[in-house]
Amino acid sequence: MSNLSYSTQLIEEDDIAAVVKVLEGNFLAQGPKVAEFEQSLCDYTGAMYAVCFNSATSALAGAYSVSGITKGDEVITTPISFVTTSNMFVDLDAVPVWCDVTLNGNIDAEKIESLITPKTKAIVPVHFSGNPVELQKIHLLARKHNLLVIEDAAHALGSSINGKKIGSLSDMTLLSFHAIKPITTSEGGAILTDNKEYATKLRLFRSHGIVKKELWNSDMISMGYNYRLTEVAAALGISQLKKLDKFINIRNEIAAYYDKRFKDQNSFLTFEVKQTHRSARHLYPIILNSKLRSKKEAIFQELQKRELGVQVHYKPIYQNSFYIEKFGKTFLPVAEEFYKGEISIPCHHNMTLNDAVYVADTLLEVLV
Ligand SMILES: *Cc1c(COP(=O)(O)O)cnc(C)c1O
Repeated sequence: MSNLSYSTQLIEEDDIAAVVKVLEGNFLAQGPKVAEFEQSLCDYTGAMYAVCFNSATSALAGAYSVSGITKGDEVITTPISFVTTSNMFVDLDAVPVWCDVTLNGNIDAEKIESLITPKTKAIVPVHFSGNPVELQKIHLLARKHNLLVIEDAAHALGSSINGKKIGSLSDMTLLSFHAIKPITTSEGGAILTDNKEYATKLRLFRSHGIVKKELWNSDMISMGYNYRLTEVAAALGISQLKKLDKFINIRNEIAAYYDKRFKDQNSFLTFEVKQTHRSARHLYPIILNSKLRSKKEAIFQELQKRELGVQVHYKPIYQNSFYIEKFGKTFLPVAEEFYKGEISIPCHHNMTLNDAVYVADTLLEVLV
């Protein structure tokens, strides 16, 4: 049986060859591959600019910083995400305003408007599992209240809404190329934007705030860091991106099989992706019914014992000690319910349909 982790990478001969070629060449740190990868990301998503970083976390630090988010600003976001979605604006002394989710794990667009205050600066939704959020409603609110929209699309490279790829729809969009994300550069991330000024500032932010002048002379014009992606990583990214659609098709075949297998049971919920949407299917989440939720720990252990690399995504960010200490307690009923029930089961492009049969059989054996 192949790797039955909830998600994992697939590295093939062509990926390895692409990386070796860069290792044998002259440029390891800065060179042509990062720019080539950025152009490929623009071609694929339809975004005008792509700026790569050495992780999605450093990319988010850049996005929040260049958008002018600062002390006392409020950012409306989802608690059902990896901590970094909130961490990087809290690091700028902005205040998280967590909005409840719907049971598919995405921010509940109907609940956003009542959270908007004169201090609100941005809305940061996450396309949980790759399933697109209700971006149209979010954009209407953003326009009405003059807010930025920064999408966390760490799960959603290749997802689309009405045929339009995620990446060119909001002020900025975040991608992650961490090992287990839709494609990988081992570690890496990017911001996509149509805004030239943001792109310019992001490039300064990721590389010491330095602009080249003539000959040896350069000038540091703003605060910056070394958050650059390497040439080696970019070469892997270029090679992986060529296969993204193939990867997504495999993940969608597995998900479609699960959807069919799980239709007539009531131990847990699954979520259909709207006809008009395409999901990159980074995760396949199930939500245990209320009876099974109290046994989730035992179920999780049993599934792991049977070699299903299940995981839980996510503990609501506000439940982390750091956030309780800094902002006090938060309780959002659907996010709580979601966390109590959620388990992510294996769904990735390095498994076969036979593996999916084993996963489904095992899950139904343990749960039903
Ligand atoms: C993985 C992930 C990130 C952060 O990505 P890194 O590249 O590991 O920094 C951000 N947001 C979400 C939703 C993620 O899943």
